[in-house]
Amino acid sequence: MPPALTPAGHGKGFPAKGEPDADCALCPRLVRFRQQNRSLYPDWHNRPVPSFGGEDACLLIVGLAPGLRGANRTGRPFTGDFAGDLLYSTLDRFGFSGGSFDARPDDGLRLVDCRIANAVRCLPPENKPIGAEVNACRPFLEDEISRLKGLRVVLALGVVAHGTVVRALGRKKKDFPFRHGALYRVSDQQGRPLVLANSYHCSRYNTNTGRLTPAMFEAVFTGIRSTLVQPSSNPGRKKLSKRKGQLSN
Ligand code: SF4
Repeated sequence: MPPALTPAGHGKGFPAKGEPDADCALCPRLVRFRQQNRSLYPDWHNRPVPSFGGEDACLLIVGLAPGLRGANRTGRPFTGDFAGDLLYSTLDRFGFSGGSFDARPDDGLRLVDCRIANAVRCLPPENKPIGAEVNACRPFLEDEISRLKGLRVVLALGVVAHGTVVRALGRKKKDFPFRHGALYRVSDQQGRPLVLANSYHCSRYNTNTGRLTPAMFEAVFTGIRSTLVQPSSNPGRKKLSKRKGQLSN
């Protein structure tokens, strides 16, 4: 297994503005796991994984948490394990990236109008953060959303990411149930209109079981691209369906 490299775009300034400290201690269980992994794999990243992509992004993608041999090793979201393969190939197809993805943080890949974050920025055991950890990490997501001045769409990958995004926007989960392919009209805590998109997570499990196919994932991005060509001041231009806040296509 190759050692971790400095994450692209975060080399000199890490931790970037708004990112947690490298030794963030807000989640005791994750801190213990981080320390174990630092002993086992001293060359790996083994700290909170910073978001990837510029702050001029209009699309923010929110995943669940770093994977052990993925982002926790390489320091870049969705890089180094299976989950990145479908995500980055789809981003390339829809013009949200440039360069080539080679599952290494120094592969030269750059995101275009797009940024990728995680709901929980530290590696959880068995890829399963507990509720307290999701809650503890949410302020970093809230801060990130407020910093992205050109943000128009947030894509949540999976139920946990969706739930924390809804709460980061100051909304109630019961008003915005997770549903693959959904496009919700929402506003953030400052009243800025946004669209919240849902997709099943592009994990190996979901793709191997057929819960998420490449065609399903591409359909989500088709909806996002369609949303982004609407005037930014009027994201509700699409006709609302009966479901509260739901945009129809
Ligand atoms: S998951 Fe987030 S809040 Fe918890 S220790 Fe890591 S960076 Fe801090």
